[in-house]
Amino acid sequence: KLHNTIQELKGNIRVFCRVRPLLTGENSSEEAKTISYPTSLEALGRGIDLMQNGQKHCFTFDKVFVPNASQEDIFVEISQLVQSALDGYKVCIFAYGQTGSGKTYTMMGRPGNPEEKGLIPRCLEQIFQTRQSLRSQGWKYELQVSMLEIYNETIRDLLSTNKEAVRADNGVSPQKSVGKTAMNEQSSRSHFVFTLRITGFNESTEQQVQGVLNLIDLAGSERLSKSGSTGDRLKETQAINKSLSSLGDVIFALAKKEDHVPFRNSKLTYLLQPCLGGDSKTLMFVNITPEPSSTGESLCSLRFAARVN
Ligand code: ADP
Ligand code: MG
Repeated sequence: KLHNTIQELKGNIRVFCRVRPLLTGENSSEEAKTISYPTSLEALGRGIDLMQNGQKHCFTFDKVFVPNASQEDIFVEISQLVQSALDGYKVCIFAYGQTGSGKTYTMMGRPGNPEEKGLIPRCLEQIFQTRQSLRSQGWKYELQVSMLEIYNETIRDLLSTNKEAVRADNGVSPQKSVGKTAMNEQSSRSHFVFTLRITGFNESTEQQVQGVLNLIDLAGSERLSKSGSTGDRLKETQAINKSLSSLGDVIFALAKKEDHVPFRNSKLTYLLQPCLGGDSKTLMFVNITPEPSSTGESLCSLRFAARVN
């Protein structure tokens, strides 16, 4: 029997688990037997149990969000971190999990439905509202946005004006549907890093603050059978494994307050180094699907998160 608990206070690193609802067409018959979590939203729980082959695996996180938790419920729990970024802290919010577990839904939301806006648009709204309301106190905020993609250990600037190069790399074909499929496919194989640099300056007090808010939609964590993948696919798999495991190593080392933190082992950790550790704040969402067929992957994700928690 395994029991993973949060050790002592781990400073500024927190882990939230989010279980997405079953989607129409997904098999629910065995759900209740394989996964159990707090049943009511009111009592935001911390424990989640997973049954696999008759063995119960128990995990505890800073919070566990049940399938009917709304995007607003999630945002309420992170808006303090947005305030921290406005106050001059460096903040990283990650979404970790297998493809289809709800990472992009958590970060971006469902396009076209304002109620289902994700963290990125909600964070922007809070920042713009704060900017507006603090104007009367002499605060002026300057925002700088960047959107990067890390694919096969190569960083690409998604806001680059050189659209042709990006297009060529993505292999978007003239047929729209084909291009779209190819891009969705690749998006799950790459990390998406949204960065807001916030500079606040108070004209009357001459105070200045510089905060950074990073929101990172990580590549799918699913294990691809190494034997089955060759060529480009194998290269992708190796790049993802390397960067996700080195992210885990970095956060683990920071949580343990180890002297050596292996930032240089992947592009992702190297890029985010200035925003990890010190007095910066890190939040990891581990996204889980309730599908019984995903129990193996869910267990891997929970173990990854428990290690950094
Ligand atoms: P990922 O980015 O991890 O691959 P997605 O965010 O694309 O996964 O989610 C997979 C599917 O599940 C999408 O159709 C998405 O709209 C849906 N989904 C994910 N989380 C939720 C949720 N909390 N509520 C409703 N639908 C969700
Ligand atoms: Mg996604």
